[in-house]
Amino acid sequence: AHQMGVKAGEVAMKLVESGMMATVNTLLDFETAALVADEFGYTVENVAFDITNFYDTSPDPEEKQKPRAPVVTVMGHVDHGKTSLLDAIRKSNVTGGEAGGITQHIGAYKVRTEEDSEITFLDTPGHEAFTQLRARGAKATDIVVLVIAADDGVMPQTVEAINHAREAGVPIIVAINKVDKPTANPDRIKQALTEYELIPEEWGGTTLFAEVSALQQQGIDELLEMLALQAEIEELKANPDRDAQGLIIEAELDIGRGPVATILVQRGSLKQGDIIVSGQYYGRVRTMHNDKAQNVEEVGPSTPVEITGLSGIPEAGEPFFVVDDEKDAKRITDHVAEQRRKEVMASRAKEVTGSLEDLSKMIQQGEIKELKVILKGDVQGSVEAIKEAFGKIGNEEVRVKVIHSGVGGITENDVNLAASSETGAVVVGFNVRPDNRAAEVAEQHGVKILTHSVIYDAINQISGILEGLLEPII
Ligand code: GDP
Repeated sequence: AHQMGVKAGEVAMKLVESGMMATVNTLLDFETAALVADEFGYTVENVAFDITNFYDTSPDPEEKQKPRAPVVTVMGHVDHGKTSLLDAIRKSNVTGGEAGGITQHIGAYKVRTEEDSEITFLDTPGHEAFTQLRARGAKATDIVVLVIAADDGVMPQTVEAINHAREAGVPIIVAINKVDKPTANPDRIKQALTEYELIPEEWGGTTLFAEVSALQQQGIDELLEMLALQAEIEELKANPDRDAQGLIIEAELDIGRGPVATILVQRGSLKQGDIIVSGQYYGRVRTMHNDKAQNVEEVGPSTPVEITGLSGIPEAGEPFFVVDDEKDAKRITDHVAEQRRKEVMASRAKEVTGSLEDLSKMIQQGEIKELKVILKGDVQGSVEAIKEAFGKIGNEEVRVKVIHSGVGGITENDVNLAASSETGAVVVGFNVRPDNRAAEVAEQHGVKILTHSVIYDAINQISGILEGLLEPII
């Protein structure tokens, strides 16, 4: 109303006319506000920060999508040969023809099969990497290779891997490893897997099985062709002609080069000099190397590269995306940083101010040496009186510390102060109450607000918390 130069009552009236009971204190959502403003001849523009203005996650049009290499994760029980298999694949002659054929460990690598298909492997075997990437909602893997030692069998982590893959909706190809061993019995493995609905084609199922020896480099090409075949079945596609988006695979600080990150481009093409954003960090891609330590200028979907130029170390599984200019990048990362700071603060405040009982327990156990209080009252006289009385509560072990006091209602600022106190704090109101916003924020952060109208009661409750004798909160 103020912005439009009309009376608040007129705005409320318009709302009531259109069937919405509204007063001066009613919070309007953007759509409603826009509709009402329109009635007064104004257009409303939403200038709030909206990440989707910069990070477009909507799918690319079908006609722009081109086939892409599958991204594969190797999983299985410990000692069944995951690391050996990844080494064998890396070393397999598929990269022989390329210059500088020695692969560097950058967390992922790409191979070319004899039939000229490309396959990308995430080079961290095991479930941790898979779940870590997935924990952030990232879908990094298209196919799981489940490694099972032919001389062993279905073990706990084998089952875990099956469940992880199923949960993520990712197809499984089984690699029966160590078939060179005299005690190897691939049929027994196949039999055991039928229980988990992994049934080979020859038995009427749809699961692809490869029999390999990572140690003797046997059956590797067949496994790769199977992966290419599975990828074809999945019809994996991405649009290479757009700004790049993808995932952080791993990142660390290099003394000489600064933050170094291995990233997987999932769609679009990444070029040297592009400005990328990931979490609260951004930067211009300064150097870009592939898994053969070759300098590359531009890479497309399903390609892992190692880049430098970021302002910090993003977490594995964090998405990244390219933005047009540094100003946008700064705006986005500032926003994300602020968001995360709030989240951390909220969870910390929740931990310590979870309940008065917890707080009291922590005091009894000596974990908290002072109970921090934010005190608000209706008149200066009573605030002073209570503050003085609070000062006398406690003993050598524990005391009350009023970190802020004042006259007036309990505001959002008071609550935020309590929430940001590392050991937690309570807000005490004498003859005053929290306003709506303060109550809301207190709820969000789990901050306790205690209100009283008798000085004695306020003192009693605070000493109760200190002594573990809690009065019920009214
Ligand atoms: P991971 O824990 O699953 O990564 O298993 P590793 O790759 O570390 O392998 C565990 C052990 O099995 C090592 O001693 C390997 O040398 C051995 N191994 C791996 N693959 C084969 C294979 O194909 N044949 C034989 N005989 N041993 C293997």
